[in-house]
Amino acid sequence: MIVERIWAANELRNYHYVIACGETGEALVVDPLDWQACLKVADDRGWKIRQIVNTHEHKDHTAGNAELVKATGARVLAHARAASMIGGVDQGLVAGDVIRVGRSAELECLDTPGHTLAHVCLLAHAEGSALFSGDTLFNAGVGNCRGGGDPERLFETCALHLARLPPSTRIYPGHDYLQNNLRFTRHVEAGNQAAADWLARSENVPPEQRPVLTLAQEFTVNSFFRLGEPGLIETLRQRVSSLPARPTPREVFLALRELRNSW
Ligand SMILES: [Zn+2]
Ligand SMILES: [Zn+2]
Repeated sequence: MIVERIWAANELRNYHYVIACGETGEALVVDPLDWQACLKVADDRGWKIRQIVNTHEHKDHTAGNAELVKATGARVLAHARAASMIGGVDQGLVAGDVIRVGRSAELECLDTPGHTLAHVCLLAHAEGSALFSGDTLFNAGVGNCRGGGDPERLFETCALHLARLPPSTRIYPGHDYLQNNLRFTRHVEAGNQAAADWLARSENVPPEQRPVLTLAQEFTVNSFFRLGEPGLIETLRQRVSSLPARPTPREVFLALRELRNSW
């Protein structure tokens, strides 16, 4: 399995992914917005784009579908409940579906509600795990819930599902928010040295060359996975008066998501 990450160089800082089978040259594109950039990468490598997956229904993940289908004849796959919102979807995905890319790549569909209620993440098992996480999980952060989502569901997706994936899983999010999110981690966890280190390491690194973090690394810098940290709870209690002295992980997550909305 070959993964090419493409940065859209837009204000929303979208990332696209072209996933290819090195044996057959068949390729799948995740969330094409800048569809021409995706097509160019495939053409340059001699790959044929056969499938498009939208992680969810938001326009910045789907707006390139029609043109890319016109150019390649690719099939469009998306969460079964997102299909009618997106339009032109050939196959609705449910949890456990496996998408094959040529002979060497397999992507397992995870049902990951929260950012929206019809969001899939794709888990690849080849050569170590990799997660294409759309707007559910970002580097050092998680998606917001303002566009049709639900923070309670996002907590369950992150804490009960994504946090239990193999720690070596490489994370491929839908946007480049690494630096801004690391600054938020420093805001709520002033003593988080790992966040300070990653911030320093990613300074002056163009988005195309940003590091790919593993889930284990996310556990050190992503406060949404660090819900029992005393320093984090202390900071949140100063800002969110309703948070009890001994909050549950769910209460910490919800308070953190709320604070991040206004930060
Ligand atoms: Zn979104
Ligand atoms: Zn997005």
